[in-house]
Amino acid sequence: MRVPLLDLQQQYAPIRDEVLAAVTRVCDSQHFILGAEVEQFEREIASLLGVAHAIGVSSGTDALLAALMALGVGPGDEVITPTYSFFATAGCVSRVGATPVFVDVDPVSFNVTAEAIDAALTPRTRAILPVHLYGQCADVDGILAVARARRIPVIEDAAQAIGAQTRGRQAGTLGDIGCFSFFPSKNLGAFGDAGLVTTNDDELGWKVRLMRNHGMHPKYYHRVIGGNFRIDALQAAVLRVKTPHLAAWTEARRRNAARYERSFTEALAGHRSLRLVPASAAPTAAGTLTLPAASPDAYHIYNQYVIRVHDRDGLRERLTAQGVGTEIYYPVPFHLQDCFAPLGYRAGAFPVAEAAAADSLALPIYGELTENQQRHVVSTIVAYYR
Ligand SMILES: *Cc1c(COP(=O)(O)O)cnc(C)c1O
Repeated sequence: MRVPLLDLQQQYAPIRDEVLAAVTRVCDSQHFILGAEVEQFEREIASLLGVAHAIGVSSGTDALLAALMALGVGPGDEVITPTYSFFATAGCVSRVGATPVFVDVDPVSFNVTAEAIDAALTPRTRAILPVHLYGQCADVDGILAVARARRIPVIEDAAQAIGAQTRGRQAGTLGDIGCFSFFPSKNLGAFGDAGLVTTNDDELGWKVRLMRNHGMHPKYYHRVIGGNFRIDALQAAVLRVKTPHLAAWTEARRRNAARYERSFTEALAGHRSLRLVPASAAPTAAGTLTLPAASPDAYHIYNQYVIRVHDRDGLRERLTAQGVGTEIYYPVPFHLQDCFAPLGYRAGAFPVAEAAAADSLALPIYGELTENQQRHVVSTIVAYYR
């Protein structure tokens, strides 16, 4: 049986005609950059997220870059961010000339905590950049309390969290600026690169719009130095077709997460050499398996379903041999990446992230996954530790 990590063909098949009609509409208009299609998309996604301003950009990476630039973050500034995320989170901080200040993550959610951020504050802290990793919100309220006390802006990296909620409020709309990615493998994927910046602050919204298009307003009058962070009309048209399906796709991912939990629990009842244990800060011990834990406050959208196991690499090889796609998000935390060596962090600085990097494994969780495919994943894992 083949169980790919992600199968976008299955999502595409039922909407193919609608997507092709939308693409044709843009081709027939021969209007490819910004314009009416993008404006429509921005209105629709702003209303879905319940946010005042939604600004389509060229990628999630460029969303982060435009957000940092709009806030005026630059040389001499520090930005506090988790050491455990996709590279763009930290890379963008360095690209604007600021210094990323890494902190460890929580062992249960893999998210950065308010306590860790509080401990990393210095007089140079110019922004806080939490990530809603794997589709579950970080403790935004706790982080905002730390930030507001010092009037430090919060940029939410919601690239993996579109539609995620905490206490009924949407990820990416709670801090000062939210950044989303429509990379094809994200929960809402474009047909290429695309991203989004959100804010409820009129002035910040205006600044992000300026940054997106070379700081230009009106045409050929440049108020600030921005970049080309524009979203294509073709991507906006595709996203307009997909957006109305997002809620159902998310529900399917959540159903699959619940099915994994049931299936692992059943398969491990009476198993002699493998048992389920709650997440802890320590590396996963031999004979134990940890499943993702959704906080009671969270509406988790499962961009990834990440388990923790002993002998992760051996298990991964077995899964590959049995036709099951997996991925490691992420094998090396930021503070141990070569490109950040000049920052002077050492191995052992952030033990929770380092342990997670060594023993976490993402399993297939996309909505169209069948119950049989999930059983195959679970039985392959359970059999490996027998
Ligand atoms: C995907 C991702 C990004 C970058 O998005 P792109 O659209 O690929 O540039 C940034 N941060 C996180 C956490 C991501 O997962």
